[in-house]
Amino acid sequence: MAETGSAATARTEPLPFDGFDKMFLNGEWRQGRSEKISEDLDPYTGEVLVRIPLADERDLDEAFAAAASAQESWGNTPPAERAGIIRGAAAIMEERREELVGWLIRESGSTRIKAEVEWQFAHAVTLEASTFPARADGMILPVDIPGKESRVYRRPVGVVGMISPWNFPLHLSSRSVAPALALGNTVVVKPASDTPVTGGLLLAKIYEEAGLPAGVLNVVVGSGSVIGDAFVKHPVPRVISFTGSTEVGRRIAELAAQSPILKRVVLELGGNSPCVVLDDADIDLASRIALFGKFLHQGQICMAINRLIVDEKVFDDFVDAFVAGVSAMKVGDPSDGRTVVGPLINRQQLEKLQRHIEQARSEGARELAGGGAEGLVLPPHVFDHVTNNMTIAREEMFGPVVGLIKVRGDEEALAAANDTSYGLSAAVVTRDAERGLKFARRVQAGMTHVNDSPVNDLPNCPFGGEKNSGLGRYNGRWSIEEFTTVQWVSVQHEPPRYPF
Ligand code: NAD
Repeated sequence: MAETGSAATARTEPLPFDGFDKMFLNGEWRQGRSEKISEDLDPYTGEVLVRIPLADERDLDEAFAAAASAQESWGNTPPAERAGIIRGAAAIMEERREELVGWLIRESGSTRIKAEVEWQFAHAVTLEASTFPARADGMILPVDIPGKESRVYRRPVGVVGMISPWNFPLHLSSRSVAPALALGNTVVVKPASDTPVTGGLLLAKIYEEAGLPAGVLNVVVGSGSVIGDAFVKHPVPRVISFTGSTEVGRRIAELAAQSPILKRVVLELGGNSPCVVLDDADIDLASRIALFGKFLHQGQICMAINRLIVDEKVFDDFVDAFVAGVSAMKVGDPSDGRTVVGPLINRQQLEKLQRHIEQARSEGARELAGGGAEGLVLPPHVFDHVTNNMTIAREEMFGPVVGLIKVRGDEEALAAANDTSYGLSAAVVTRDAERGLKFARRVQAGMTHVNDSPVNDLPNCPFGGEKNSGLGRYNGRWSIEEFTTVQWVSVQHEPPRYPF
């Protein structure tokens, strides 16, 4: 609990949260029942941060049962009261900002720069969600039938099951948890195995401290391959909110379809963002966009630039500026505030990237920047002579590896940008904003930014993808749609006239 102190005394720092070897079920902290213990590692130092006995299906059932029994009363809690708890959670995030940033650095290998960005996103999305209770309105619709009144009531979906990835754990869990709770739902979170604290347990501590009633938020820690299927097929949750890879997302959609009672799935999946540099671009700006859009969090972001598509007229100038920027970036210790590229999350990700690098070389790409890994820190790799059919361009790298694709003219650039099975985010760089807008409108992606990075997220703007990047949208009014349902209720005040 936070130390409060009287108003007259100096404000004291709250004691740091602890007890992360337990999970949060029905308002209580207790250990998972499975025999398996997971080691939560600092990817830079290799230190074990916490050992967590994992959940099994009994814990999962308990979490969903708690959420189901708490839902009606939480859904009937006055909107201002729900809003107050969400605002309280945002205030605790502010008070504990350094503690949360520290956990993001240690547990998810975030550089300090990325951890601060993530804290801002998570805090902003929580504050935005605190406006939802007052915005979840219904409607009275015009009707032609005499004596009939037609109302549309908006209500919570019920229980939301939330599964999050390890790359932006605090934010990606917050962007579902805060809106779902604000709108009167109860929630069960399953964070990724690499980030149980930042993806779930910290949020449970924050909402507990904010006064959320027992059972309204529950966190189970367990591996996706062990409890994932049971989580998605469970009869209780009415919505599965999933953020993660396209491969697992497809499986979630299949499982949800097999569940005895159909449920809604919101899928925020992988990406292959193009950053298109047109022939009139400001090269310095384009290079800065590319550096931020590619290397924030070592490229482990769904919106991160996967392909740099550059017009031949400015290609050489852009490459010079970009490669100079890459060699100036500090690589290594994520806790050093100047570091741009820190560690990858785990060994599997490193090995996957090393295979991609080998493949890029064998497919004929030319390496302009590279180097060997130290621990889990892989220095930035830049490849020239890349075409859209090479693996480095087709697959999501999800790391500090990028290919440069040379094109002639806007049509060729657009065709290259759209030549992917993904459609999450994109960027186009030009000195002519109207030309950029015309181009952006033709990109097959849920989000496209003119003269800014594809890594972009604002709490009131629709976030989500097309094609294999997913289904549904988060943030602002779109989250209100995803986490509520509507019911049409009509009243016939006069006897109705039927044809027979
Ligand atoms: P992942 O798909 O491997 O895992 C995501 C989550 O799914 C984890 O919690 C994992 O435990 C769980 N899971 C795994 N198998 C499961 C199963 N059978 N049933 C239920 N849950 C299961 O993804 P990751 O490696 O953690 O994250 C990286 C991927 O996420 C990248 O592809 C990235 O682009 C994507 N991503 C997308 C967005 C977005 O908003 N579109 C944001 C961040 C990351």
